[in-house]
Amino acid sequence: MEEYKVKGLTCANCTRELQEEINRLPSGETATLNYNSGKLRIANTVDMEKVTKILSSDGAYIETDQFEQDHQHEHTHHHSKVNWLTILSISTIFYFAAFFAENWLNEYVAIALFLAATVLSGYQTFIKGLKNLVKLKFNIETLMTIALIGALSIGEWKEGALVAILFGLNEYLEGLGMEKARRSVESLLKVAPKEATILENGEEHLVPIKSLKVNQIVLVRAGEKVPSDGVIIEGNSSVNESAITGESLPIEKSVNEPVFGGSINNEGLLKVKLTKAYNDSSLAKILHLVEEAQETKTPTELFINKFAKYYTPLIMVISAMVMIIPPLLFNGSWGDWFYQGLAVLIVGCPCALVLSSPIAIVSGITKNARNGILIKGGVFLEQLGKITTIAFDKTGTLTKGEPHVEELIAYDPAFLQIAASIEKSSSHPIAKAIINEARNIPLIELDEITAYSGTGIVAKGNGTTYYLGNEKQIQHLALPDNVQIDLQRLKDAGMTVVLLANESTVLGMMGIADKIREESAAIIKKLHGLGISKTVMLTGDHEKTAEKVAKKIGLSTYFAGLLPEEKVKKISELSQKGKVAMIGDGINDAPALATADLGIAMGKGTDSAIETSDIVLMQDHLGRLPSAIKTAKKVNSIIKINITLALGLKLIALLLTIPGLLTLWIAILSDMGATILVTLISLTVLYEKKTNDKLQA
Ligand code: ADP
Ligand code: MG
Repeated sequence: MEEYKVKGLTCANCTRELQEEINRLPSGETATLNYNSGKLRIANTVDMEKVTKILSSDGAYIETDQFEQDHQHEHTHHHSKVNWLTILSISTIFYFAAFFAENWLNEYVAIALFLAATVLSGYQTFIKGLKNLVKLKFNIETLMTIALIGALSIGEWKEGALVAILFGLNEYLEGLGMEKARRSVESLLKVAPKEATILENGEEHLVPIKSLKVNQIVLVRAGEKVPSDGVIIEGNSSVNESAITGESLPIEKSVNEPVFGGSINNEGLLKVKLTKAYNDSSLAKILHLVEEAQETKTPTELFINKFAKYYTPLIMVISAMVMIIPPLLFNGSWGDWFYQGLAVLIVGCPCALVLSSPIAIVSGITKNARNGILIKGGVFLEQLGKITTIAFDKTGTLTKGEPHVEELIAYDPAFLQIAASIEKSSSHPIAKAIINEARNIPLIELDEITAYSGTGIVAKGNGTTYYLGNEKQIQHLALPDNVQIDLQRLKDAGMTVVLLANESTVLGMMGIADKIREESAAIIKKLHGLGISKTVMLTGDHEKTAEKVAKKIGLSTYFAGLLPEEKVKKISELSQKGKVAMIGDGINDAPALATADLGIAMGKGTDSAIETSDIVLMQDHLGRLPSAIKTAKKVNSIIKINITLALGLKLIALLLTIPGLLTLWIAILSDMGATILVTLISLTVLYEKKTNDKLQA
């Protein structure tokens, strides 16, 4: 399979038809052409010359290399646009000249000019329409061609010309809107660096980004982009990670700290050892995801496309009825109703309807991507706008996820050493706190380590079995009074308690505290304001801490002491009452994320976060979540408005036939009006962003 970028696709319907034509080429059956992203995927055995020809029949063309943004393409692209505009302007001039001719010259000159305007702006449609007519394929071009021939046959020169011009203009505008949305995605893609300076045997080489390998050392000068994910081995600087996280505040980085590909080095000279080849870097993954996201179709979109398929033939039937029934049954004039029937044919364009959702969705996905929120498909954007319940994991989501040991109670001198030795194997945030607490103590080797998700760890060493974790992990013991008292005290203080025991006694316990994220309370309040009626915390931690956190943040409910499988069960219960999103770090709550209607992962683009969720928050806080939901809601309501508008204007046009008031130009104008409105309304999703940013700044 090869992948090409196709430019100049005018409308969703025509794109589907182009694909069908390509599918009929030898070995072209599997080719797909996607309107939203403008991507053509095709077997490499297909004759590309033929494909180019098919595409060009609709004014589309293949862009050779998306990474080479040479001017030539900008140019050809511009060129084809100018052409259309020129054609339409000349047609318009002819059209007005014809009016003059009608009044001051003679009628035949006028007719000739009207005809010229019709042919000039309509010939592309005619050619396609006639071809389709021969094949008995009825799409909008066919309908337009029939309508125009019909109009000319009854001497409606003026209207014929006007309809042809407006139809041309309509197609042109339709293409512009989607092009705009697509280009905003491309502007995202442009953040990808193209070349990198590698250091080899003390020499600098400029190499293309795709050739980078793991462990190569790259040099990143001030103002340059880090080519791929890596670790700083020399130098320090402030870097701008906005391409990845949407956060434009610079972050100070120095030796041994990780940097993302695509982030900009603001000042110092950095030597970076690559940990990932470009294609595996977070940035490449993000870009790939955003591109793929555009291509998935939402249920609404699929429904509209299906509807559009039946809509055009339906309109043809209505048109025939309008032509025949009134004269036959109600004594109407054949001529008048023939004209009305032609006008109805023009109403047969489902263009505005088909356009009602893709521009809004692509814009919504792009806008969120710019904010560091990756939405893996239009479906998830639609879902996000319908969420009524959000379930949060506690550690790392509502709290900072950087816990520290606040209090240490040792009943055995080896307590901390053993605890830290066991935690060495764990990636849990608690483990980090404990290892950090024991950083000056030499650790011991253990033979066998088993982690129990949601409760703790069991390990064997020195012939003893150790139990580390919360109370559930030491259920085999009856706790003596002094241990119980200590335990209760730590819990009352709202700390997470980690106990260590062997088969017979408790060796010690630690009270671990994790700061609540300052912004959590404000965000929860905003979420409630956005119609998220239920905010729930699910945690494996004990009741007391859970209660303290929930109260402080203002959550509607919390459930404590949950094992991972119990979290999953809670999510299923909650989803019976509404649409549920689950937010977690994607590390130990993958099952819950997968069960929820919408899984949202936090965590700076770690692989597991990206893989297990439907939406990824690239920043490791929830700050942008409310605005993402707002955008999603806006997109959903815009799609509803668009559908209503597109269908409403058609319906009005159709109803006008009853008093016999529908004219050809009203018919085409109703479609054009709808297309323009739908496009403009959809693009507001993108534009609102700027005002938002100002508010945030
Ligand atoms: P949360 O729901 O807050 O994300 P988890 O489900 O990951 O928490 O863990 C629940 C509880 O299990 C923790 O509060 C802790 O008491 C215990 N626990 C889990 N893993 C560990 C570990 N590696 N070390 C110590 N305690 C652990
Ligand atoms: Mg967790």
